[in-house]
Amino acid sequence: MKAPAKSSGSSSPAVSIPAPSAAADPGRTPGEREGLDLFALLAEHEHEQVSAYYDPSTGYRGIIAIHSTVLGPALGGTRFWSYPSDTAALVDCLRLARGMTYKAAVAGLNLGGGKSVIIGDNRTTRREALFRAHGRHVESLKGRYITAEDVGTSTGDMEYIKAETNHVTGLIGTSGDPSPVTAYGVYRGMKACVRYRSGSDSLAGKLIALQGCGSVGYHLAKLLRAEGADIVCTDIDPQRVKRVVEECGAKAVASDAIYDVRAAIFAPCALGAVINDATVPRLQVEIVAGAANNQLALDRHGDLLERRGITYAPDYVINGGGLINVNAELHGWAPERARSKAGEIYDTLLRVFEIAREEGIPSHQAADRLAEQRIAAIATVRRNFV
Ligand code: NAD
Repeated sequence: MKAPAKSSGSSSPAVSIPAPSAAADPGRTPGEREGLDLFALLAEHEHEQVSAYYDPSTGYRGIIAIHSTVLGPALGGTRFWSYPSDTAALVDCLRLARGMTYKAAVAGLNLGGGKSVIIGDNRTTRREALFRAHGRHVESLKGRYITAEDVGTSTGDMEYIKAETNHVTGLIGTSGDPSPVTAYGVYRGMKACVRYRSGSDSLAGKLIALQGCGSVGYHLAKLLRAEGADIVCTDIDPQRVKRVVEECGAKAVASDAIYDVRAAIFAPCALGAVINDATVPRLQVEIVAGAANNQLALDRHGDLLERRGITYAPDYVINGGGLINVNAELHGWAPERARSKAGEIYDTLLRVFEIAREEGIPSHQAADRLAEQRIAAIATVRRNFV
């Protein structure tokens, strides 16, 4: 980790730093760089812009990272978190923004990737002024970045942001809970995985090991049950397990035992990093397909799954329904249109597996390839003045 960043030190307006091209800093060697190497960080993954905003009256310290606007305005939530350093906040923001570019690209949406972080204790009760300061920061980017909820923020906070900018989604009374759309996308993704392996996409009679019976897990269980799949489930909340057991005829197992269930599909719908050195050798499934974000502890765990002959549905492809729901809100889509778009995850995943086979690479890399292909194609088609 490089030395901590100095905070921008400025009050409003925002300090906006457009990034140079990928070949930034050709004349400087790493040894010549001192402290936070901001432009090297931006150049590493070709981020377009980072903006830092400090408001002394509220103590607001926020960063907005725009990774790419090739496909459209950069969309991504606001994370409110107590980071150990400003550098840690910046790096997290950059990483998350980039992830959003890929997620939107493979979902076939006309959105770019961005993210913002507010540095601080997210349990604070003094929220209005803080989130209005954030709203002003978002507004200063004039629509290049659109925000939404993320860890540490709520729909109420989005309402405060809305007082200062229109570039915010996920407001009370709008698109609502994204979980049913996400669950439908995961369900369709599971069917694509089964088809890829066996030629038939029926889930009837298949056993699904479901980790997490929360918002997405519950709706997913309902869809699986309706198709005649059998479910083994777990959750650390007994009430949530009970609901899936009673309503979907599932069998419950202890939290840790879910990794040892011999099943067709392991569906992580709780936490990230559950595919790791300890769990991969235990899995007795053909497919890993679920809603959780960042399922692979490290990229190499995707390679390990591949080596074990387990088909992995890359998380940001299969769980794109949530983003599709936000996009639906932005464009005033009817719920059926959002659901139908989420259903396209089926074809997207088959394309990912095809790329993986053609190029001899694991599916998580093939997903990146698909996203990059779309971004490059659209960038090319838009090169002319019209
Ligand atoms: P949720 O909080 O409603 O449900 C998560 C569930 O996981 C909870 O019931 C929780 O008790 C359970 N859990 C936590 N630790 C566990 C453990 N060790 N073992 C078993 N269960 C455990 O969240 P959600 O909205 O259902 O989202 C689930 C996952 O999908 C998250 O990783 C989320 O980031 C991701 N995701 C959700 C959406 C969406 O639309 N909600 C969209 C994209 C991705």
